[in-house]
Amino acid sequence: MIKGVPRTVGSRRGPDAPTALFWRKADPAPAYDVIVVGGGAHGLATAFSLAHTHKISRVAVLERGLIGGGNAGRNTTIVRSNYWLPETIRFYEYSLKLWETLSQTLDFNVMFSPRGVVFLAHDRADEDALIARGNRMLAEGVDAEWLDPAALRRLAPALDPVPGALLPVRGGLMQRRAGTARHDAVVWGYARAASRLGVDVIEHCPVTGFVRGAGGQVEGVETPRGVIRAPVVGLCTTGQTGTLLAREGIRLPLACHVLQAFVTEPVKPVLSPVVISNAAHVYVSQTEKGELVAGGSLDAAPGWQQAGPPERLAEVAAGLGALFPRFRGLRIMRSWAGVVDMTMDGSPLIGPTPVPGLYINAGWNYGGFKATPASGQLFATLLATGTAPPLIAPFALERFERGALLDEGGAGPRPWLQ
Ligand SMILES: Cc1cc2nc3c(=O)[nH]c(=O)nc-3n(C[C@H](O)[C@H](O)[C@H](O)COP(=O)(O)OP(=O)(O)OC[C@H]3O[C@@H](n4cnc5c(N)ncnc54)[C@H](O)[C@@H]3O)c2cc1C
Repeated sequence: MIKGVPRTVGSRRGPDAPTALFWRKADPAPAYDVIVVGGGAHGLATAFSLAHTHKISRVAVLERGLIGGGNAGRNTTIVRSNYWLPETIRFYEYSLKLWETLSQTLDFNVMFSPRGVVFLAHDRADEDALIARGNRMLAEGVDAEWLDPAALRRLAPALDPVPGALLPVRGGLMQRRAGTARHDAVVWGYARAASRLGVDVIEHCPVTGFVRGAGGQVEGVETPRGVIRAPVVGLCTTGQTGTLLAREGIRLPLACHVLQAFVTEPVKPVLSPVVISNAAHVYVSQTEKGELVAGGSLDAAPGWQQAGPPERLAEVAAGLGALFPRFRGLRIMRSWAGVVDMTMDGSPLIGPTPVPGLYINAGWNYGGFKATPASGQLFATLLATGTAPPLIAPFALERFERGALLDEGGAGPRPWLQ
């Protein structure tokens, strides 16, 4: 036995299973100050901030399956703040700054890797749109840089240098501080840190309905393990928020779609930054192990499965091959899918609902992983104080009533990819 490590470390069953080293296994108490529904990255980050910043420790995270079993553990881990609208640039830039110190904040290595994210331009229209986006970022004080083809190939030698290539590259918009983080580590780090501050992280506890008071306010949640009471409930239930609120007679402007990704067999290091091409419908990065992780567009038809049709994967593989002819022979080792909830304007939905005490954190479209630290911190402030901090106030549900849409999806060449 290694000195200092408890005997139970190797056990794979019971309360001493390896995860018990990370977070305390908890059963539901009859009541809490705040219940967070959904043990993905956003739910856990929210619970952490409630306990850490707002000193509210009577907090439960209720997860219907295993924490991180949703999109938190299924995404392609891209973290960036190169958006189009000032509201989204500011929010995601705040998040990127939190990513830079997240390992220290959580005392857990989330493997944030600022390797740079570059959006490729293949024609004049791409170039104009990306340069316009870079200028908007610079105007908000966010780093952005235009790279010519030679500079791009120094960074990513695998980009096809052959004249007349299927998708010739004219240049790219680079954000050097952007990159990737290890998604599982983010979930585990938040769960461990929240649990250490007294938060109950409760798995296999699906919320099936809400308890309402005489005035219509939320007073708790219904679960197969009984009613659990709380005057404040935050939903971080990507893919299920619309269904849960429909039971309360509330229709959300959300549509659920399946998004897939895959990894190839590992190869030696050939790709330093994350590369994104809207024309090829593909985004790709290389893991520390050498695999190429790639994703593309979502399925057009609505869906709630954690699996998708092979044709979509074939499209992404074709896009990858068009961008990087040298990758064409690589074998796909595994693929997976998650359910993304899309808003019609491509911006998230964070804020109160018409039910007093009930709040939503949803509508992350392709890009909620990168939002995790800011979303958790700012949503926690909303739950703790009832007031939305300025960075998330524009993303409230009522923007759809006022017609004040934040059209991140409609601007530029599909800037909402991941
Ligand atoms: C293939 C793919 C690639 C992606 N790539 C990127 C990327 O590169 N960069 C990026 O920023 N974003 C990316 N995303 C999007 C990102 O993963 C999501 O926006 C983000 O993870 C959503 O927040 P979350 O982590 O809290 O959601 P989830 O992890 O899905 O958490 C929601 C949790 O709620 C639970 N739940 C649902 N209903 C109930 C209920 N009734 N009771 C209790 N629990 C419930 C679920 O089980 C789940 O664990 C990608 C998504 C996919 C699918």
